[in-house]
Amino acid sequence: MTKKQVIKQKYSMPLLNAKERATNFNEVAQGYSEETALLEAERCLQCKKPLCIDGCPVGIEIPSFIQLILKRDYQSAADKIKEKNSLPAICGRVCPQESQCEKLCILGKKNEPVAIGRLERFVADWEIKNSEPVVLEHKITDKTDKRVAVIGSGPSGLTCAADLAKLGHGVTIFEALHIPGGVLVYGIPEFRLPKDIVATEIENVKKLGVEIKVNSVIGQLWTIDELIDEEGFDAVYISTGAGLPYFMEIPGENLNGVYSANEFLTRVNLMKAYKFPEYLTPINIGKRVAVVGGGNVAMDSARTALRLGANKSYIIYRRSEKELPARGEEVEHAMEEGVIFKLLTSPVEILGDEDGRVRGIVCQRYELGEPDESGRRSPIPIKDSYYEIKVDSVVIAIGQGPNPLVPVTTPDLKVNNRGNVIVDDKSSLTSKPGVFAGGDVVSGAATVILAMGAGKKAAMNINDYLQGTN
Ligand code: FAD
Ligand code: SF4
Repeated sequence: MTKKQVIKQKYSMPLLNAKERATNFNEVAQGYSEETALLEAERCLQCKKPLCIDGCPVGIEIPSFIQLILKRDYQSAADKIKEKNSLPAICGRVCPQESQCEKLCILGKKNEPVAIGRLERFVADWEIKNSEPVVLEHKITDKTDKRVAVIGSGPSGLTCAADLAKLGHGVTIFEALHIPGGVLVYGIPEFRLPKDIVATEIENVKKLGVEIKVNSVIGQLWTIDELIDEEGFDAVYISTGAGLPYFMEIPGENLNGVYSANEFLTRVNLMKAYKFPEYLTPINIGKRVAVVGGGNVAMDSARTALRLGANKSYIIYRRSEKELPARGEEVEHAMEEGVIFKLLTSPVEILGDEDGRVRGIVCQRYELGEPDESGRRSPIPIKDSYYEIKVDSVVIAIGQGPNPLVPVTTPDLKVNNRGNVIVDDKSSLTSKPGVFAGGDVVSGAATVILAMGAGKKAAMNINDYLQGTN
């Protein structure tokens, strides 16, 4: 018998041409063909002790679904993933697999790991294209008479709701915005995560019996106490995310043309500014845009600016390329598309014209010193190294904190000094009986899959709590 040939690298995934794609909102990564998915699936060693599963916050049985791909039984592969993950087409696109399942894949020790994320996306997309919408009702255990209110319809709320519904509980999600999905719809742009994919996966959650009430701001319409005492919910899960933008507190931040990344991306993604005049909600960013920050949110903003017609889109970041917190893939895509990186640089002032509109940004150069408590080399300003960049708009993408409305209207809900809801790590329980929390509102801005993992854990804990209240 011949020894299996070792394919050292992941099979690549086709991308749209960089120059062309930077002018439109079409999805950049095109996904594996069936042929490539089969070749990539063959790279998996089907380990007896698969380390990859330990790296998945929702515990997908990775080798089992890859084995089903090899058998060309794509529906069973999709079902296998959905046993643990209700949003596979989303996770296959945006999860940072390189720091989770793929980081632990045994192949990664000597070669590139199996492209688990791309295979997950292949299977999920296959199901969306080829199978009838799956009616999962038959898998739901007997209905109980318990009702749970989930606040916020991001990945954490959706996951918690789906798992509770599968356990037979009545679940209502209350969402402040007019479309459900949280950051998946208002933050991550269409060219990375098409909104019809998000809508399809949310429909699948609804098919489990989950009700979603949009335009329902908890803290205004009802307080948490009213949901429990007047609306009769037996438990509440708070998953309101981290949508409160941080600012730099430098002169000029109140000028016209300065946006938080949150507002900028919401106006483009949710309000469809890029479809003006079909949608009468345009955004005027001019031709030169500076984005301050180095994470995924900053990359999304800079790439969005190019697509809105900017001919200069800058990333301004105070450390070096090595420390950029965004996914490597996103940085690479931004560079290919023509985003200009001003590294080891930080703004000190935004300049305005006589009409109060942005006309430029003054920056200072930095160098790297010794590692700080985050383990990264700390940025140190270089004396008298100021310089100016002419820009028409500035987008601030330096981070977000938890949405404050629910804590403010729930006096006995404890939060920490950053405003994050405090929960017991094991039970997901807050300081308030029957009220649980998870996702970004607890952890601070993190990732889709960590928010989902928290939703999953909370669903199990809420189920235990509800059974105890029988
Ligand atoms: P959210 O997704 O923020 O959802 C919270 C929901 O609660 C929102 O819909 C909000 O409207 C609603 N809400 C808030 N207050 C109330 C209220 N009072 N009443 C009712 N509803 C309320 N992660 C990745 O893994 N990969 C990526 O590539 C990635 N890219 C990102 C790009 C951007 C631009 C941003 C902003 C984030 C990105 N993230 C990424 C992070 C990821 O999206 C978040 O960690 C994740 O969405 C958190 O999920 P969540 O359910 O906790 O909160
Ligand atoms: Fe396959 Fe890698 Fe998981 Fe082993 S660790 S089962 S090779 S994906």
